[in-house]
Amino acid sequence: MTNIIITKGVSKQYGETMRVKDLDMVVKEGSIYGFLGPNGAGKSTTLKMILGLVNPTSGNISVFNKKINYKNRLSILKEVGSLIESPSYYGHLTGEENLEIVQTLRGVSKNRIDEVLNIVRLENQRNKKVSQYSLGMKQRLGIACALIGNPKLLILDEPTNGLDPAGIQEMRELICLLPKQYGMTIVVSSHILSEIDQMATDVGIIRNGELVFQNSLENLHSHSQERILIKTLNNAAAKEIILKSGMNCKLNGDYIVLPKLSDSEIAHYNYILSKNNIGTVRIEEHKKSLEDIFLELTGKSVSL
Ligand code: ADP
Repeated sequence: MTNIIITKGVSKQYGETMRVKDLDMVVKEGSIYGFLGPNGAGKSTTLKMILGLVNPTSGNISVFNKKINYKNRLSILKEVGSLIESPSYYGHLTGEENLEIVQTLRGVSKNRIDEVLNIVRLENQRNKKVSQYSLGMKQRLGIACALIGNPKLLILDEPTNGLDPAGIQEMRELICLLPKQYGMTIVVSSHILSEIDQMATDVGIIRNGELVFQNSLENLHSHSQERILIKTLNNAAAKEIILKSGMNCKLNGDYIVLPKLSDSEIAHYNYILSKNNIGTVRIEEHKKSLEDIFLELTGKSVSL
């Protein structure tokens, strides 16, 4: 599988502080790469470096297997669409007129306007002035502008920020559709775990400028392994008995924590404990949620 973006040891210093540190990011072709991290973690700075809007302090970035430099930046970025920060429009012009400006600047054919209006489902609002657009419609127009050059790579920085739940769902559906129907690769940033969980195929988690996790969404889910918690009338003695039987366990608060066990294993330990006159009062199955994992990785709560 081809990699569309590769960053090697990319860092960015603002003033005295390293805001992005030694970042090795890999975005695979056709993936939806969810770039997740708390506010201020360095997501926008990283995306701006990939787009050549900000120069890295050190490290290098390749897009479509070409190292970005000031000479080839424009030719590479012709095939990239982006939505970074709130897009600005001419409010007194219609959605279609705004798109015409971008279409002319990009030098693409006029019929792309109809195509992108169709993709972002703004056909019926094309003749409305943008000043009368809702925030969700403005965001969709922003995506339409990003799509007009028929990009192979789309970079979206927090595209759902400020949208209501219906707008968020529409944006999610739109993002999920693009790789399937048009073969695009997407990088989408967010500080909300559930959002990335619902649309990404791959996840990069950034914390204080460092990439603390990068793998498939499936791999992130596999970190949420199940555990068995047992509470007895004498946990200290119970723990010793379980350990002596060869099973790994530890005390945590009121519970003894064991790895995932089969039903017959649980019945077996329950039997051993009662044979040793230790009353079992609770046996619970506990699955670490994705939120727990995100919290462990970032030290921050899920949505800030
Ligand atoms: P995120 O997108 O994850 O919210 P940013 O990349 O916007 O994070 O910001 C990361 C850090 O870099 C923040 O502390 C921010 O204040 C700082 N920063 C961003 N841009 C600049 C800049 N142009 N000058 C100085 N500091 C900046």
